[in-house]
Amino acid sequence: MKTSILPALTETSHSAARASLRSVFGFDSFRPGQEEVVQAVLDGENVMAVMPTGSGKSLCYQLPAIVRPGLTLVVSPLIALMRDQVRALTAAGVEAGSLNSSNDPSENARVQGLLRRGELRLLYVAPERLSRPDMIEMLSEMDVALLAIDEAHCVSQWGHDFRPEYLSLGDVARQIGGRLQTLALTATADGPTRGDIEGKLFSAPPRVFVRSFDRPNLRLAFRPKDRSSRQVLDFARAHPGESGIVYCASRRKVEELAAALTAAGQNALPYHAGLDKRLRDTNQDRFQQEDGVVMTATVAFGMGIDKPDVRFVCHADLPSNVEAYYQEIGRAGRDGLPADTLTLYGLDDMRLRRLQIEQSDSPPERKRIERQRLGALVALAEAPRCRRQTLLAYFGETSGPSCGNCDLCIDGVERFDGTVEAQKAMSAIVRTGERFGVEHLVAIVCGERTENVQKFNHDKLPTFGVGGDRKPTEWRSIFRQLSAIGLISQDLMDYGRWSVTDEGWRVLKGEQRIELRKDLGAAKAKKGRAPASAATTVGAADTDLLTALKALRSKLAQTQRVPAYVVFSDRTLVDMATHRPTSLQAMREVHGVGDTKLERYGAAFLGVIQARAG
Ligand code: ADP
Ligand code: ZN
Repeated sequence: MKTSILPALTETSHSAARASLRSVFGFDSFRPGQEEVVQAVLDGENVMAVMPTGSGKSLCYQLPAIVRPGLTLVVSPLIALMRDQVRALTAAGVEAGSLNSSNDPSENARVQGLLRRGELRLLYVAPERLSRPDMIEMLSEMDVALLAIDEAHCVSQWGHDFRPEYLSLGDVARQIGGRLQTLALTATADGPTRGDIEGKLFSAPPRVFVRSFDRPNLRLAFRPKDRSSRQVLDFARAHPGESGIVYCASRRKVEELAAALTAAGQNALPYHAGLDKRLRDTNQDRFQQEDGVVMTATVAFGMGIDKPDVRFVCHADLPSNVEAYYQEIGRAGRDGLPADTLTLYGLDDMRLRRLQIEQSDSPPERKRIERQRLGALVALAEAPRCRRQTLLAYFGETSGPSCGNCDLCIDGVERFDGTVEAQKAMSAIVRTGERFGVEHLVAIVCGERTENVQKFNHDKLPTFGVGGDRKPTEWRSIFRQLSAIGLISQDLMDYGRWSVTDEGWRVLKGEQRIELRKDLGAAKAKKGRAPASAATTVGAADTDLLTALKALRSKLAQTQRVPAYVVFSDRTLVDMATHRPTSLQAMREVHGVGDTKLERYGAAFLGVIQARAG
């Protein structure tokens, strides 16, 4: 290798990368974390980059691929993901292609031709295909510069997306040989997974970059379930015409909510593993391509979604753990514009999730980790202060001051000395022999003579009616909070009976005082609070003009059979409607307008702006 010219070469490639950021992608600056990774790659290092969803991981291999000689291989677990990226790159004028089983022959021929002529910059392949001997042979004769492994956590058996084919990628890299570098990318933060990625994809320790997991544009909110379908409908209604996802814990609920949302006039579609595959694919395509579809789904709707302009995610049921929660809400707001999230939860959800862990076939060590992850989510739901601080603390990050963009920061949290309440609740548990579930306990504390209360003579207990000054919903919240802070615990196998922990006994005996948070039940949430919405950031943008620009975008997207955001992102249109460029030159200053798109679409959008001027 000609080492003497290397420094000069990398220096020019650094500035070429910065120039291409503007001329190819139309972006003015790197997002936090991107530049360091791009530089390390251009400097020839092997890199593992841990960056949250929406931070722009793709750019970290796309830019080097564009500015340096040699082919970049991109491994991705899903055909849908590859297809979307190839489309977006092609629209930006970059020679990219994928080889996979669902391509039609003409596409394969196009890609093979580009490959032979050495014109292809990025080749997307599934791991199975990449490890085929004929593929390796072909590649080892070519100048392959970079192997970028997207969703690299798929190599780990610790994650929920384990893909055995990923295990061969380290070998594949060695066999292709030459100057091949490896770049592994993931949004999964936890330690065991990271360790697996390093150990299985790299032969020597890579340079590691870990980006903050904070996603300040996502509004975080949790609310106890009240009438949950009503709550979901209200939330969706606060986001008219926007794309969103509603996650449910069961297929039945998916169907019910999709129907309810449709009846309420939303453009809602169902998605779960029990639906016919064709229908599932159609629904997913419509979600990707149309504006304003609300996907009502189980978590089967997941990894393949690469849509930048999802404006809200609602969990109609509690997610399975804190990592799943973060990944699922992370599908909103990838474009960096404000996005809204809401998670509904209740004691039944918590019990269901605990039960799922206990009844799984996982080894004890795994179950222990799963319990911790669920515990962290429950604690987040009952958090006494800023949710973002609580969440980031879980990921090992200390964050700055309160975020101002979560329900607790916005609505405020009132706290009170809850020692007496805790004692009342726990004494109901103890005096009934630690044998009952929460509804029965709430009835006792509130002094309700239900059938069961009478049957067991529990209306004769001294605890009966001691909490009549509070509503049953408040007592449910108190029980949840006591559970979240570990004063009481639930036996899962046996009718969900509750018992008092050692810690709980200390409070019961008056040795320790505790604070509780006044419940922010649905009814108490402040009225009139504007939802986090991209529309609010439009600000100076003329909404009529924006609507007209969106209409043109839809038309172009339809004729070219690509998703609307492949033509231009929401942010680009908002920018156009705000600045109203009057020339192609000025149009080039707009966010997301690179040279190729300027040439292809500039005049048409300019036409719309001019037609509305003056
Ligand atoms: P990730 O894979 O990390 O979830 P993506 O690579 O899909 O994120 O990028 C998310 C969105 O951010 C895409 O729409 C992409 O075009 C946009 N994006 C990436 N980098 C930048 C940047 N430097 N400036 C503006 N937008 C960016
Ligand atoms: Zn906050």
